[in-house]
Amino acid sequence: MPKKHIATPTRTKEILNKYTFSFKKSLGQNFLVDANILENIIKHAGIDKGTGVIEVGPGIGALTEQLAIHADRVVAFEIDQRLLPILQDTLQDYDNVQIIHQDILEANVQEVISGHFGPEQPIHIVANLPYYITTPILMKLLRERLPVSTLTVMIQKEVADRMAANPNTKSYGSLTVAVQYYTQAEVIMNVPKSVFMPQPNVDSSVLRLTIRDEPSVQVTDEEYFFNLVQACFGQRRKTLRNNLIRYFKETYDKETITELLEMVNIDGARRGESLDIEEFAALANVFYNAGDVNG
Ligand code: SAM
Repeated sequence: MPKKHIATPTRTKEILNKYTFSFKKSLGQNFLVDANILENIIKHAGIDKGTGVIEVGPGIGALTEQLAIHADRVVAFEIDQRLLPILQDTLQDYDNVQIIHQDILEANVQEVISGHFGPEQPIHIVANLPYYITTPILMKLLRERLPVSTLTVMIQKEVADRMAANPNTKSYGSLTVAVQYYTQAEVIMNVPKSVFMPQPNVDSSVLRLTIRDEPSVQVTDEEYFFNLVQACFGQRRKTLRNNLIRYFKETYDKETITELLEMVNIDGARRGESLDIEEFAALANVFYNAGDVNG
């Protein structure tokens, strides 16, 4: 790790004092103050001097600086206007960083990628995400099918565990299936609260999502599939069959539901949490093809 870095408690305090900056809890502002964690994130994010990086929420630039050092070009979206002059100061030595003052949820990331990176350039998303909107941000970035290879993100441990979960575990749910439809998910490391300023209330993990060339399963209609998966986890203690009866009460009678379950060889007495993604896909396809299109 190069000598110069923003991510120490002393330097961070210096910068915050210089600009009399006060943290906004509502924007999930927990800045990284530990160089070792940054080094680990960089190591796992798959970046080198040929790659482009999209960052969400640069803060005062702790992670941005390391990305600028190790990648070809960094484009970072920051919502808090007060941070713009600070970033201009802290990142003044790097001419390969561009800050865009915008809410990531409103941003046209595809257009930004086409405008800032080469057509063949490998692109990675790296971020210490604002925890209040972790899931909406990740789902937006995945659903848009951006030309990126990986997303390496610091998020709440509990959410990271859900995204990387296996069937038949407490963490497994509709979010797991949605994320693993697009990516291969792995928790890289768990991170103590002490690496942040101020310290968050929850534990954190670094999660790496590697985008699949093709979704992990073939489904006839994606929206229908995601809605059905959600319904199967609707009441976790209920059987799959009962959750389906509830969900399809306007569309299919109980006998038809039993028949369709039999057609894909899935026992309706099981719980939703025991189905793997292939079984969910088979289930969604058989119900969809049986004529229901309401999703
Ligand atoms: N990257 C810095 C670090 O690691 O020290 C800061 C990370 S902090 C957890 C999250 C950052 O995201 C803050 O700078 C916050 O202002 C910014 N942010 C919050 N909501 C945002 C949004 N909707 N769009 C873009 N940035 C956002």
